Amino acid sequence: MYAQKETFNRTLKLMGSRFDITVVAEDKDQADSYIDIAVSEIKRIEALISSWDSNSQTSLINRNAGIKSVVVDKELFELIERALKISNLTNGAFDISYASMDKIWVFDGSMTEMPSKESIKESISKVGYQNIQLDKEDYSIFLKLKGMKIGFGAIGKGYAADKAKSLLLEHGVKAGIINASGDLNAWGTKPNGDDWMVAIVNPLNKDKVFSWFPVVNSAVVTSGNYEKYVILEGQLYSHIIDPRTGYPSKGVLSASVFTKNAELADALATSIFVMGVETGLNLINQLNDVECIIIDGNNKIHTSNNIEIKQTE
Ligand code: ADP
Ligand code: MG
Repeated sequence: MYAQKETFNRTLKLMGSRFDITVVAEDKDQADSYIDIAVSEIKRIEALISSWDSNSQTSLINRNAGIKSVVVDKELFELIERALKISNLTNGAFDISYASMDKIWVFDGSMTEMPSKESIKESISKVGYQNIQLDKEDYSIFLKLKGMKIGFGAIGKGYAADKAKSLLLEHGVKAGIINASGDLNAWGTKPNGDDWMVAIVNPLNKDKVFSWFPVVNSAVVTSGNYEKYVILEGQLYSHIIDPRTGYPSKGVLSASVFTKNAELADALATSIFVMGVETGLNLINQLNDVECIIIDGNNKIHTSNNIEIKQTE
C-alpha cells in the first residue's frame, strides 16, 4: 500500500528574508524533518557568506581588504569564482564588490537625504571585481584595495535555494519548492501530478498577476524595485546599484529569469536591472536555456526569444 502524499509548507525568516519551504511528504512529521534539513542548510550557508555576521568568512575577507589574503572554505571560494564569471559575462553590471556602497545607500528606512557626490565618488573607487584576487593554490581571497568589501545580496539566496534543494533530493524528497522571497527552485510535481506554478506579478500592483508559468525542475527568480527601495526628493531609488556610477539603477521595474539553477538566475536578474532592457535581453538571448521577462519603467513587458506570455489582463 502506498501512503497518500501531501504538500506541507513552512514560512520563516532566514538570511534576512522570508523563505517559504514546500515539500511533498507522507505526513507532517516526515515533512517537518525534511524542512528542518533545508533550514539548517540555509543557516549554514548564511553563516558562511553573510557580510553582516562579523564571524563569517566573508567578513574576515572584508576586514582584511588591502591588508592580506584570507584562506576560506572551498565552497566560498568557488562561489566567489562563479560570481566573478558573472561579472565578466555582464561586463561588470553584476559585481559583488558593490558592497562598499552599502554605507551610502541604506535601505532600512534610515536614509533621509541624497548622499553627497563626494561620498559616492569615494565609495565607488573601491568597487571593481578586477580587484578581487583568487588563489587556487591555497583557496585564498584577497581584496586589493583598503575599504573594499564584498557581499552576496544578489546571489546568496539563489545559491541557498539550490543547495537546500539538492540536499533534500539526496534525502529522497521527491518534490518541493524552496522559495527565498521570490527566488525559487522547484522539483517534482504536486501530489496530483500537476506542475508547480509561479506567478509573475505586475510590479505596480503586486496583487495583479501578469501571467502564470509552470516550473518543472528549474528555477525562477524575480528582482523587483518594489522589494527594497528608498524615496528621496520624490524619486524612487532601488537597492540595485549600478557599479559604474554608484547610483541605483533605473528604468527596469522588475526582471524575472528562468533557468536550471537559482544562483545564476538570481545573479542575472540583478544584472538585467543594471544593464537595462535592451542590453539585458541581448545577453539573455545569447545564453542557452536561460529566458527572462523584463518589465520596463512604463510597465511594458519584454521577453527573451523563447518565452511566450499569455497576459491575463
Ligand atoms: P532581492 O534580494 O530583492 O532578491 P536581488 O537579488 O536583485 O534582490 O539583489 C539585490 C541585492 O544585491 C542588493 O540588496 C545588494 O545587496 C546587492 N547588489 C546591489 N547592486 C548589486 C550589483 N550591481 N551587483 C551585485 N550585487 C548587487
Ligand atoms: Mg539577484
